[in-house]
Amino acid sequence: MVKVRVDNQFIDLKPTKIICLLRSYVAHAAEMGDEVPGRPRFFLKPPSSLLENGGSIVIPEGVEELHHEVELTIVLSKGGKDISVESAMDHIGLFLPMLDITARDLQKEVKGKGLPWAEAKGFDTFAPVGPQAKSPKDFDWKGKRIWLEVNGEVKQDSNTDLLIFSPARIISDISRIMTLEAGDIIMTGTPAGVGPLDRGDKVTAGIEGIEPLEFNVI
Ligand code: MG
Repeated sequence: MVKVRVDNQFIDLKPTKIICLLRSYVAHAAEMGDEVPGRPRFFLKPPSSLLENGGSIVIPEGVEELHHEVELTIVLSKGGKDISVESAMDHIGLFLPMLDITARDLQKEVKGKGLPWAEAKGFDTFAPVGPQAKSPKDFDWKGKRIWLEVNGEVKQDSNTDLLIFSPARIISDISRIMTLEAGDIIMTGTPAGVGPLDRGDKVTAGIEGIEPLEFNVI
């Protein structure tokens, strides 16, 4: 079971689903050569891809291009269907930093063929979790630096104010499609600066105000 620290307690993450937004920052959509979506668009990662802080991100055999994406992430405290934008913030239990690890070579291949992204996003260890999470009463998601370093070199450096859609809008839109449950994880998408990870790399990343995450790559 993957744990995070909240105040001085450790809690287990037990999502029924991990929902990942795509093209959530204009500069990231541009670096991928993608259009900015008119509404929040997303894919799913399996809960089996979660990795506790301090673990090792495993480059799968046959994958030549592994990419990092740091993302402001939400854990829901309560579920619902057809949640209004106005009430959506009441469903947020925790904020934390997570990585959306991506087999970019595989993603390019399936994108080109019009196939789903699941295999490029769903390997074990592809959803590393920060050591600490904060409740909305202790953390305002707005105006926070979001950053990632590989071997001490800054690769991603942006601000949560540049999210195209707010967490409330994202939760509301997703809940019109699928019933959300307490414990579900929503990764809100990555800012620009995504790039490769190689065996032996050390990744650190975070969101201002929450303890950074730390992983190695094997
Ligand atoms: Mg992502």
